[in-house]
Amino acid sequence: MIEEKILQVNNLKKHFSMGRNRQLQAVNDVSFFVKKGETFGLVGESGCGKSTIGRTIMGLYDRTDGEVLYDGADVHGLDNQGKFAFYRSMQMIFQDPYASLNPRSTVKEVIAEPMEVHGLFKSKKERQERVYQLLEEVGLNRDHADRYPHEFSGGQRQRIGIARALALEPDFIIADEPISALDVSVQAQVVNLLKELQQEKGLTFLFIAHDLSMVKQISDRIGVMYLGNLVELTRSEKLYDNPLHPYTQALLSAIPIPDPDLEESRERIILEGELPSPINPPSGCVFRTRCPMAMEVCSQVIPTWQEVEQDHFVACHLYDETVVKE
Ligand code: SF4
Repeated sequence: MIEEKILQVNNLKKHFSMGRNRQLQAVNDVSFFVKKGETFGLVGESGCGKSTIGRTIMGLYDRTDGEVLYDGADVHGLDNQGKFAFYRSMQMIFQDPYASLNPRSTVKEVIAEPMEVHGLFKSKKERQERVYQLLEEVGLNRDHADRYPHEFSGGQRQRIGIARALALEPDFIIADEPISALDVSVQAQVVNLLKELQQEKGLTFLFIAHDLSMVKQISDRIGVMYLGNLVELTRSEKLYDNPLHPYTQALLSAIPIPDPDLEESRERIILEGELPSPINPPSGCVFRTRCPMAMEVCSQVIPTWQEVEQDHFVACHLYDETVVKE
């Protein structure tokens, strides 16, 4: 079976001008694809550029260079009609559900608004029925429809945000840190809801998060980002069983293991130093100022993105046979 690449991000670059010829290099030369029906996780510390990628894919930011192809079409070259169809097919769920919901609108109005804009359903009554249906699909009920967002808990508000994203029956959802603002006990419920909805509706997800343990629960493949660069990408289980990049190894070593004996015996990799500024990133490998394995070459040469085993990509000189290691 040929797996369809619904989204392709090719050499994407997004820089923001900071005045006086200074550029904030939020995203640098990032390439990956997402297959139809899968969940692709994008993970990394806050400020690594993962949310900027999500927003650039959605067309909320213009690109500096590279391309984003959705269903084969260049997202940033769409005409108005193309954009209208694109926004019906791709929707976004945000980190802070409260900020993304209009506090003066009832839940019914919040969820019905995209349907009105896109001219779905002829009558108000039909739209209202659809709102009730959506509320039930996300684990709420029709009694919630006439209330306001502030009357709900964080988890319920995120469910409202998900119902709104589903209103146009999208094919692809970008979930930008959808659980980061929620209590740990609620996070798993929202992740499970997203998984159920994916199975029911055949959705494709780009799931952006800083918590690798939660990304593992939901993702088929995972890309790890550091300071605007993709540093490793592979299938979820492979990333956990055999992480290659020193940054991925450090991130994974920070996840607690439920077995107390294993937890006590394993080695934790503590990263020294702060995340460097994306305005003035380190030369060569951007991770070199914090990498426990750094070599001389790392400050001089940018590591190339290479496939070191099937479906396992990494950018690190340790795995580049053409580089002299001292
Ligand atoms: Fe560390 Fe060098 Fe690999 Fe960068 S290229 S991750 S500095 S070993």
